[in-house]
Parts: sequence; C-alpha cells; structure tokens
Amino acid sequence: MSANIISGKEISAKIRERIKYEIDEIMSANSDNPNFIRPGLAVILVGEDPGSAIYVRNKKRICEEVGIRSFGYVLDATTSEADLLDLIDQLNHDDRVHGILCQMPLPKHLDEFAVISAISPVKDVDGFHPINKGLLSMGKECLVPCTPLGCVEMLKLSGIDISGKHCVIIGRSNIVGKPLSALMLNENATVTITHSKTKNLKEICRQADILVAAIGKSGFVTGEFVKEGAVVIDVGINRDPDNKVRGDVLFEEVVEIAGSITPVPGGVGLMTTTLLMQNTLQAYHNIISKEADL
Ligand code: NDP
Repeated sequence: MSANIISGKEISAKIRERIKYEIDEIMSANSDNPNFIRPGLAVILVGEDPGSAIYVRNKKRICEEVGIRSFGYVLDATTSEADLLDLIDQLNHDDRVHGILCQMPLPKHLDEFAVISAISPVKDVDGFHPINKGLLSMGKECLVPCTPLGCVEMLKLSGIDISGKHCVIIGRSNIVGKPLSALMLNENATVTITHSKTKNLKEICRQADILVAAIGKSGFVTGEFVKEGAVVIDVGINRDPDNKVRGDVLFEEVVEIAGSITPVPGGVGLMTTTLLMQNTLQAYHNIISKEADL
C-alpha cells in the first residue's frame, strides 16, 4: 500500500495563517498607538549567489504575507568582515528589528562563525548562535534552527507520536542533523545519528520508526533503507541534471514501503521559511516581554 503523503504545503499554509492572525490581532489591539512597532525581520545577503537571492526574495514575500516588516540588506561580495559586523551591530540595537538573518553561504573571505556569533542571541531567528545551540542541547527554551523545527512540526501536526520512537537521522550538519537530533531527543525519541563514516548504514536505517534523510545526495535512500510502515522525512534539496528538484529519498520506491513520507518538492523545504516567520514572532514576544519587565 502507498504511504500517506505529509504535505508541507498544507501544513506550512496553516502555520502562516495562524501567524498572520496573531500579528493582525497584535496590531489591531495597538491601533491607537502610532509608535507601536510591528514584528520586523532583517535579512542580509552578501554577494550575488543566485540561489541565495531566490531564498531572500521568498523570505520577503512571506514576511509580507504574514504581516512581518522586512528589512533587506544586499551587500557587495567584497564587503569586509568589519563592515558586515558593523551592520549586524546596528541591527542588534535597532528597535524595529526583532529577527536578524545572514544568508549562508558567505563569500570565502568572511568567517561564518564570527558572523553568526555577532548576531544578538535574542534576535538569532536562524537559531545558529552558539548560545541558542547550547540551550537547545540542554533542552531549554531558545530559538531553534528552522529546518529541523519544520521536521518536528510536520510530524506533530500530522498526528505522529514521537515519544519512544526510534529516530535515525542521516547527516550530522550543524544546520540540520545535529540540531534535529537534539530536538528529537527533547521530544523523547531514541535517536541515532549517522554520517558518511557510519558502518552498516542500511541496517541501522531499517531499524528506524522515523527516518530522516539530510545528506545532499539525490535518491540516496532507496527502499532497502526503510522498514515497512516507517515515517520518512526527506530534507534533501538536490537539482538533478534534468534540472528537476529531487530529495535524498528515492520517492517512487520508498512511497510503497513507508507508512508516511514527505515529498520533494512540497515537503520540508516549504516549512523552513514559515518557521522563520514563527521564530521572528517568538523573538518579538521575547523582546517585548523583556522590555515590559524592565
Ligand atoms: P551537509 O553537506 O552539511 O551535510 C551532509 C551530511 O550527510 C553530512 O553529515 C555527511 O556526513 C552526510 N553524508 C554524506 N554522504 C553520506 C553517505 N554516503 N552516507 C551517510 N551520510 C552521508 O548538508 P546539509 O545538512 O546542509 O543539507 C543536507 C541536505 O538538506 C541538502 O540536500 C540540502 O540542500 C538540504 N537542505 C534543505 C533545507 C530545507 O529547507 N529543506 C535546509 C538545509 C538543507 P559527514 O559529516 O561524515 O561528511
């Protein structure tokens, strides 16, 4: 029997509707205050990577859709690290900005870790700052990286129970695999994280109740990796030689074995930008409630 398809399109649309509703409520409750500031997100793009430019345009469009004010900064590819850090410092102190994101990858001469670490942890809506990473590992409230958060939200909103399940993650990157392992652990899953040096990968994957592929290799996860009835989350976004976007999972084979599966396109990818909006709203609430406490 064919698997249930978990639609990132439907789930992300529902989350965006909720965010828009909440922001509309906030704004109408404060409509008599002309100085009231709506939630704001600053997006910095350094250089002209065409893929990154598309992502940035998308973020702006979704900000508009949900009612978040967006501030775009497009810097020359030769921008110095000092100038970039200067801009981040200004945005850290800008009351109109509640979330700051610097689009990765950065040009080679810029130190990504220094840039990520310069963003105020309270405005770090990508959840990449070492403080947020540390809080996530400790199971404390923090801003969580959007893609792994999107995976967990898809499971929860599809009514899939995570607690006690064996979750196998293929990939240990700082933006997907590692934060997802911490999130799933916080959700009481039993977590196995695998990578390119893992031995007996197929056998380990076949033990998974929930299998997550975040590898970056088109169609890598075939039917042989999947236990009958397992939930399969495909994070991969790969452009094949035929110019089609495909996931890390060989969908047409795995869909016949899995119990539930996310498609590519139309799956996790659509969740990421939506969760960025959710993180911006969370950062806004955190900042506003801190100001109210002062
Ligand atoms: P990275 O290249 O940073 O990490 C890939 C991981 O896969 C590494 O840990 C690597 O292991 C592991 N890996 C590679 N080959 C194998 C193999 N043969 N067997 C087992 N493990 C292997 O990629 P990202 O985490 O950044 O991205 C992964 C995929 O997700 C990409 O397709 C990317 O485009 C997509 N992505 C999608 C997003 C979305 O919004 N949906 C957001 C971010 C990424 P090792 O550490 O040993 O090298």
